[in-house]
Amino acid sequence: DTFCREMPKIELHAHLNGSLSRSTMVSLQRYLADLGVKDKTNAFIEKFQMSSGDSKTLSDVFPLFKIAQELTSVPESLAMATAMTMQEFEEDGCCYIELRSTPRETSHMTHKQYIETIVQTMKNDKFSIIPCFIISINRSSPKNEVEMITDLAIEYHKKYPDLVVGIELSGNPAVGKFSHFLPALTRSREAGLKVTLHCGEIPNPQEVTEMLKFRPDRIGHGVCIHPNHGGNEEIWQLLCKSQIPVEVCLTSNVNTKSTLSYGSHHFKELYNANVPIVICTDDKGVFATSLSQEYRICAETIGIDPSKLVRLSLRACDYIFSDDKKKNVRDKILNFINKNAL
Ligand code: 5GP
Repeated sequence: DTFCREMPKIELHAHLNGSLSRSTMVSLQRYLADLGVKDKTNAFIEKFQMSSGDSKTLSDVFPLFKIAQELTSVPESLAMATAMTMQEFEEDGCCYIELRSTPRETSHMTHKQYIETIVQTMKNDKFSIIPCFIISINRSSPKNEVEMITDLAIEYHKKYPDLVVGIELSGNPAVGKFSHFLPALTRSREAGLKVTLHCGEIPNPQEVTEMLKFRPDRIGHGVCIHPNHGGNEEIWQLLCKSQIPVEVCLTSNVNTKSTLSYGSHHFKELYNANVPIVICTDDKGVFATSLSQEYRICAETIGIDPSKLVRLSLRACDYIFSDDKKKNVRDKILNFINKNAL
């Protein structure tokens, strides 16, 4: 436990509104109440978490995010949520985070103000954790919103190239077609943004093929790619040859029942085939987890020893989107390896 907490770690797949802890949500509620902003979440915070023991599946997780989004609908509470979440990752031994979030228009702010608020919070140097921002596009968004968010992502990447580092595609995988997002993602990549895609969350070999052929810098989840997990040999070989890193979220997959158990998780197939892996949390609030807990679960259920575990963290340095910060992060992990003779 202590080892996993103290080990310097890298978080590359964390959705802001899914990462809000219960205590952060309570603070935001109080803040909004003091401000006189009506929020409808009072009764619902209890319903925010999703465990493996209940009957909920992946499609049930998407409505839950609205509870957190209600609490981050004014710039001040969005800034608080960002800062408190970064603080929690820092306290858990995370030294670098690429936090992602979907810019939204609310009655209190525009898409641009949403991005600006997160950027300004991340620029505040009271944190020792190094933050970067990945701008999310939701698969359910209409074309004009996708284009607008893409324009903003490119504008902010130009302005803050070391902070706004990437763009990603998420939201309910049963909705929308990947091909609809290709022009926006291509444009983003040409402007220098890195791209990561939620890929293979549900069985859809055709979409997985299209996504891998686009050659994203990373993919999220990659559950239904191996033939044992709803994929097929062709897309599995495509992934193995591509060497595209996979952001693996163990508890998220088990709690949404995308995977039956930790023991049967596709981590093993990825690991054995030498596909690059990064251990991530996805939504630490919804799934009541932490990055150190994900590493601990990996050690215990998959049987990875401490020296291999820390090397997973070290290898994750190769896949971070900020080239600028790679060396700094790598040195922190190498120091830990040397200090503990691992
Ligand atoms: P936000 O972008 O509002 O900060 O974080 C919540 C959003 O992240 C959700 O509305 C959803 O679009 C996306 N998200 C969070 N977790 C998952 C997941 O497990 N799978 C997919 N496809 N999208 C997710």
